[in-house]
Amino acid sequence: MDLPGLRPPEEHPLKADPAAQLRLLDLQELDTRADTLSHRLRTLPEIAEQAEAEAEYRTLFDAQRDLAIAVDDLTAEQKRADRDVEQVKARRERDQGRMDAGQVTNPKDLERMTGELESLQRRIATLEDEELEVMERLEETQGKLDDVRRHLDAAKDRAGSAAAARQEKSTALEGELRGVAGEREQVVPDVPADLLALYEKLRASKGGTGAALLRRKECGGCRLTLNQADLAAIVKAPEDDVVRCEECGRILVRTAESGLPSPI
Ligand SMILES: [Zn+2]
Repeated sequence: MDLPGLRPPEEHPLKADPAAQLRLLDLQELDTRADTLSHRLRTLPEIAEQAEAEAEYRTLFDAQRDLAIAVDDLTAEQKRADRDVEQVKARRERDQGRMDAGQVTNPKDLERMTGELESLQRRIATLEDEELEVMERLEETQGKLDDVRRHLDAAKDRAGSAAAARQEKSTALEGELRGVAGEREQVVPDVPADLLALYEKLRASKGGTGAALLRRKECGGCRLTLNQADLAAIVKAPEDDVVRCEECGRILVRTAESGLPSPI
């Protein structure tokens, strides 16, 4: 996109001492370094790793809570089933005791008691089957709970390690960024305010690069080789003119490496 509004009128190009223009390249290099460091800081793999481990931890934590409730319920159910079995067994033993003690003599009562004892025995078998089934479910659920707890501990450790690694890397990158900012402070006073303002404006609208070296007739910003007419205009321009790339609009800084023919 061409932004003609940003271009100074041809007849009044922005002026800046060639040394100041060179300092602008130093500034650009520092800003590019800072951008790279900031990008690395924002996109540390440990950030995603930590988020993933924390999400896993939350999922497992919920599963643990649900399974712990299920284990409690099944434990209570098993106790109840056990109590039921014991109650019926006690009744059977009482009846059996009465029969064994010869307290039941009437044949009709004896028949009834025998029938009842058989019925109690069947009831006990059913209740014991039910209790066994509850115990199996309890064992299975407890196994799942133990498993989830192990994974939960692992996820917690993983999130912790990622957080620690992230912290360590962030601290290092922030240190580097402070270093770059310190260097920047040394460079900024060497760049005139109007040139700096133009550079900042271009940097904001052109992916972080506002100024580039003209090297072997090529713009260091857009990497395009300048055509003869543009080169001729640049050659003619006084060395304190701030020249711009006709293609991308960035500030072009001329040096001995620029590959310019000598002005006539
Ligand atoms: Zn360019």
